[in-house]
Amino acid sequence: MQTNELNGKRFVVVGLGKSGLGAASLLLNRGATVAAFDENPNATAPFTTASFTLTKGALPARFWEGAEAVVVSPGVPLSKPELVAAKAAGATVYGEIELAWRFRPKNAGPFLGVTGTNGKSTTTALLGELMKRHEANTFVGGNLGTALTRAYEDPAQPAYARHVVELSSFQLEGVVDASFEGAAILNLTPDHLDRYASHDDYGLAKARIFGGQPRGGFAVVNADDSHVVRLARAAKVPLYGFTTDAMRTNAGFTGLVVGGGSKFIFTFGTKDVLHLRNRALRGKHNLENAMAAALMARLSGVTAETIQAGLDGFPGLPHRMEFVRELNGVEWLNDSKATNVDSSLVALNALPGRIWLIAGGKGKGAPYAPLVKAAQGKVLGVLTIGADAPTIEAAFHGFAVHGCGTLDAAVAKAHALAKAGDVVLLSPACASYDQFNHFEHRGDTFKSLVRSLS
Ligand code: ADP
Repeated sequence: MQTNELNGKRFVVVGLGKSGLGAASLLLNRGATVAAFDENPNATAPFTTASFTLTKGALPARFWEGAEAVVVSPGVPLSKPELVAAKAAGATVYGEIELAWRFRPKNAGPFLGVTGTNGKSTTTALLGELMKRHEANTFVGGNLGTALTRAYEDPAQPAYARHVVELSSFQLEGVVDASFEGAAILNLTPDHLDRYASHDDYGLAKARIFGGQPRGGFAVVNADDSHVVRLARAAKVPLYGFTTDAMRTNAGFTGLVVGGGSKFIFTFGTKDVLHLRNRALRGKHNLENAMAAALMARLSGVTAETIQAGLDGFPGLPHRMEFVRELNGVEWLNDSKATNVDSSLVALNALPGRIWLIAGGKGKGAPYAPLVKAAQGKVLGVLTIGADAPTIEAAFHGFAVHGCGTLDAAVAKAHALAKAGDVVLLSPACASYDQFNHFEHRGDTFKSLVRSLS
């Protein structure tokens, strides 16, 4: 549906990725004129209306002039000199999440936000699963899946009762008034240091998730991550923590969830005990993700029974330790999302052993030593692919190493070697660009190769 509430109003959209396109669509549907800018000479947009223009290349001088607002995509740093100049000249500059917030219906239900360095998508998807079982009319998206502006792209879209939103630090930088009834920071490890002056600046961007939380809201943090706990001091609402340290006291927290092995316990309220027996949620990292999601769901009124059913029924996300099939007692797992050593380390730590590891691709220069250490006693053999194979083979000397070159060859070799009870794990610890378009392409190729085995 189209309305004319923004007739005669001009908006600028900077960056035309998933978020920028969502923002432009929301605005055009309300009658605005949209001037979009993208520095990529190949940028395209699906809009045919004369109200939309796309300018490629550098931002021209005074591009913001006459605009109600400049909506910035998360891929474009707000520190870009042209944006700083626009702000200094009095332009209103904010991000796509903020735009969605401003155009939500008056009766829109609460927003739950999830951020952190790792585990955002898993936790958001799982929380979405838990909330949908409680309230079917729940929107799940943001950095994961559907851009938040798409929720209310159509002015006639009735309000969602809940919104579960994955937020990157870049998206949080562009938030002004948007606030989250429930907000979680999962963890913080050095990341994106190309865009942040320091680890602290990166943390401060994440901490914006606690800005302006409404009364009745709650904050959730990883109680074992001292940097995150420090950032939570910005929260003005009750603070809840999750921990895998059974000795942790609840000092400073309104409530704690304590997990170990395959269960976790709410140490407050009805003191529910929940079990993690879903193959899609293996490993300590997923225990943490599950505790975060369960906390947010519980604090949003979801019963322990519904949470347990959601934990059991969660299908998992593709390319993250994704179960592909079991053939002759051998389990095949696709962890193509592991594009760096840390992620592959998480996968190895999550599995008990008897692993045939397929690794390699476009290396990122980080040492493989931590992976080699975690592989001791667990990895039966390493099958290498891609450009960084020689470095991996050298790092894993002493292991049975098979240089396979391609994924096809690695799958065939693993099929020949693996016996009942073994696991074949594609967890490359490398980017995919030397042989594939992206990690999804690599994972999908792996899945189709594995599915055609007999
Ligand atoms: P994000 O959306 O933050 O990138 P994902 O849920 O997609 O996170 O997980 C990406 C990878 O990060 C996983 O494959 C796993 O290797 C690792 N990971 C997931 N959850 C955690 C966690 N809680 N702590 C540390 N690493 C994690």
